[in-house]
Amino acid sequence: MDKYDVIVIGGGHAGIEAALASARLGCKTLMVIFKKDTIGLMSCNPAIGGVGKGQLVKEVDALGGEMGKAADACAIQFRLLNASKGAAAQSTRAQIDRKLYQKYMEKTITKQKNLFFEEAEATGIIVRDNQVVAVKAVAEIFYTKCVVITTGTFLNALIHIGKEEYRGGRRNEPASMQLSESLKRAGLELGRLKTCTPLRLDGKTIDFSRMKVQPPDANVLPFSFSNTGIKLNQLPCYLTYSNLRTHQIIRLALEDKELLHIISQGINPRYCPSIEEKVMRFPEKNRHQLFIEPEGLECEEYYANGLFTFLPQEVQQEFLATIVGLENARITKPGYGIEYDFSPPTQLFPNLETKKIRNLFLAGQINGTTGYEEAAAQGLIAGINAALKTKDKPLLILNRSTSYIGVLIDDLVTKGTDEPYRMFTSRVEYRLILREDNADLRLREIGYNLGLVRKEDYLKMQQKLQAIKRGIEFLRSTRIRPTPEANEKLVRSGTSPIKKIATLEEILKRPQVSLEGLKDLNHVNLDAFKSAWRQIEIEVKYSGFIQRQLKDVERFKNLEKIKLPEDLDYGTISGLSSEIKEKLNRFKPLNLGQASRISGVTPVAITILMVYLRKICPLKER
Ligand code: FAD
Repeated sequence: MDKYDVIVIGGGHAGIEAALASARLGCKTLMVIFKKDTIGLMSCNPAIGGVGKGQLVKEVDALGGEMGKAADACAIQFRLLNASKGAAAQSTRAQIDRKLYQKYMEKTITKQKNLFFEEAEATGIIVRDNQVVAVKAVAEIFYTKCVVITTGTFLNALIHIGKEEYRGGRRNEPASMQLSESLKRAGLELGRLKTCTPLRLDGKTIDFSRMKVQPPDANVLPFSFSNTGIKLNQLPCYLTYSNLRTHQIIRLALEDKELLHIISQGINPRYCPSIEEKVMRFPEKNRHQLFIEPEGLECEEYYANGLFTFLPQEVQQEFLATIVGLENARITKPGYGIEYDFSPPTQLFPNLETKKIRNLFLAGQINGTTGYEEAAAQGLIAGINAALKTKDKPLLILNRSTSYIGVLIDDLVTKGTDEPYRMFTSRVEYRLILREDNADLRLREIGYNLGLVRKEDYLKMQQKLQAIKRGIEFLRSTRIRPTPEANEKLVRSGTSPIKKIATLEEILKRPQVSLEGLKDLNHVNLDAFKSAWRQIEIEVKYSGFIQRQLKDVERFKNLEKIKLPEDLDYGTISGLSSEIKEKLNRFKPLNLGQASRISGVTPVAITILMVYLRKICPLKER
């Protein structure tokens, strides 16, 4: 009988990265998916990246994942968000051709060596001695060493449009009804979450001339560090607004108490609120922004970003008629809401393995997150770790000081979530050192050592690192005399003249000065470092803040280094409150740092733990 090393259930954004990573690490991998032609399907917005999410895509790419490359190949509008803000806040977002993306991912999966797929519904897992050993797919059983579950919004899912409801994991796709029960029987706790998606419109019926055009960026920096550019034509998006008449129609619809009850029950997604929720929550607002975004190059369908809704289709049509440019728009697909089972992520170790069932990993929306990027990031880590587990190698855990991925997973497993969790820059303590532009410097080596990153890509990162070092040394050691020519050039680039000799580094620290402005100043040549100009500017301009964050990281790492034995019974430690004992026994933190972030665990409790650890193993290096 065939036995697999790793089985991945699901072929969404988490499943793809998990399966590719596992197969690329040499494991015989099986992807079980309802239908092959839904691999990589974007359930909601055809867009990748965005604030806080662009960083995740770049990190997935730096580690050797696929999402960045796929997005570059299928992007139809690239934009750097927060371009006018500081480096830490900037994130890339790309509008994507939905069909091309799905085809790209399906082809990548199909062609991948060691990766097989089975078109079937996974109906259960088989667990022996607290270890998963097989996956059931209706009548068949597939034996395996490890399983990664990435079932997204499909578990026990119920779709809502107005008062109508029906079983479905996504529009026109079945829900996964039996797997939830199997997971519960195996000892996992499950909760319930909700999300919704906007309506899609026929482009032929939209009056774009009455909307504001949002053009793509002129200069595109691709997501993938392996790419130098993108191929597809770039398209504009359009901006319009809801108005008082729109809101009035929505309020009127919500006077139906039964409908209001259906819409309000459960936990709604805070970060992608429906239009009806925005109208209820912000009654003082006269309008809300709506972005009308193309679904593809050759496609006449548009995504009405901002019109997320659970309302009945006739109400959707009615409020659409009040919006400038959409008065005659035809709905191609109505907006809908969905509720589904998720597994509260505090049941996981930071390597995404479940605490209760060995060799079982969970990734993506099943862990309470929302978004393709959050799913891909978890999928990659779960796939890598499942593969490492089959080889008895140490598992990969990224901590909060290395990456957005580290923050995402640490937040999930130590704090948990009771609403769909999405990534934001504000969740990240060390965001000045965890930027989009340096994700390769932070993570390429890990990907290379694992075997997921090609040698040429690793060497490219090394060259960039050298260029940054040499560039900064050059700026530090090159002194500029206050000659009339130099001062004239400085004034022309918008800054004041220098009165005495200054280094290029000192001049670059001025907010108005860029490396472009310093070029040719007294004949200095900066071309040798051109590939690293962006990083050099950031390192020089923010050096004070960066140094401070690096010190904070050192302090953070000291607590992370102090390991907590897995079998430690916190109930026996005197001085801890019973609430803290119970939480520590439930969470089983891996180290003091993680323990300190569990809600309710106080600094005093951490000191007690430190003293206790010194007592039980005073000499041992922990
Ligand atoms: P998915 O992409 O959902 O993939 C799940 C995969 O598992 C699919 O391939 C499915 O076929 C497969 N599968 C499930 N059960 C089984 C089974 N038993 N056997 C075999 N295969 C199975 N994200 C946002 O960021 N913002 C939003 O506003 C937003 N709105 C959304 C609205 C809706 C209606 C939906 C459905 C999703 C929305 N999302 C939104 C979420 C986004 O689509 C997900 O976060 C993302 O797709 C999650 O990726 P995933 O890989 O975890 O799961």
